[in-house]
Amino acid sequence: MSSTPYLWPTAPVPSLPVRGIDARLPVRRIFCVGRNYQAHALEMGNSIDKATMRPFYFIKDAGSLAESGVTTPYPPGTRNYHFEMELVVAIGAEGFRVPEADAGRLVYGYAAGLDMTRRDLQQTAREQGRPWDLGKNFEHGAVCGEIVPAAGLGVLDNGRIELRVNGETKQRSDLSMMIWNIREIIADLSKFYHLQPGDLIYTGTPEGVGAVKPGDHISGHIDGVGDITLDIGEPD
Ligand code: MN
Repeated sequence: MSSTPYLWPTAPVPSLPVRGIDARLPVRRIFCVGRNYQAHALEMGNSIDKATMRPFYFIKDAGSLAESGVTTPYPPGTRNYHFEMELVVAIGAEGFRVPEADAGRLVYGYAAGLDMTRRDLQQTAREQGRPWDLGKNFEHGAVCGEIVPAAGLGVLDNGRIELRVNGETKQRSDLSMMIWNIREIIADLSKFYHLQPGDLIYTGTPEGVGAVKPGDHISGHIDGVGDITLDIGEPD
């Protein structure tokens, strides 16, 4: 057996633990839905009219994945580092132009996630009509808890979602408040991408986002899915 020679060691496969299973879930791409809770859209200065608007997406590099329970450095280049608590859907089957009624077939499982955001850089980019990458796609910026297989859970359409910082509740909502539900997101996203096993979809955050500083402890919970924690370390 020969193997492909590379100039230097290849990067490790980004992956997440799966509840009740020894194998880890290899992560392929990380899609994020923007503005999927009305009250969060409003706090960011936007109102969503589902009748006339479409969902939109941005992508985080799989290398930005961080696992629940870690301490990550306060990232460079920001003075306004925000948490966004989100339900993560893990895709477990291929799908392209998937009808809503068939979308549940693609769901492998769920996790609690944090779409960490350099809010000042995101807002500057938005004002200047530039891509959001500096605000959204950076090292350790996609935090995710263990994957909970969907078997028995079905397609989630409700459940309490909340986040605390140092024990104080900052975000509290319900998955039923999502503007575009899981089936609608999978159907829509699969019009633009061939979804693949290992793709993650961060489904958007409810209202109450805010800044953290070094030393802060974030803990999040989604009913029926699980928990996530993150500690904010000193700057790099
Ligand atoms: Mn988000």
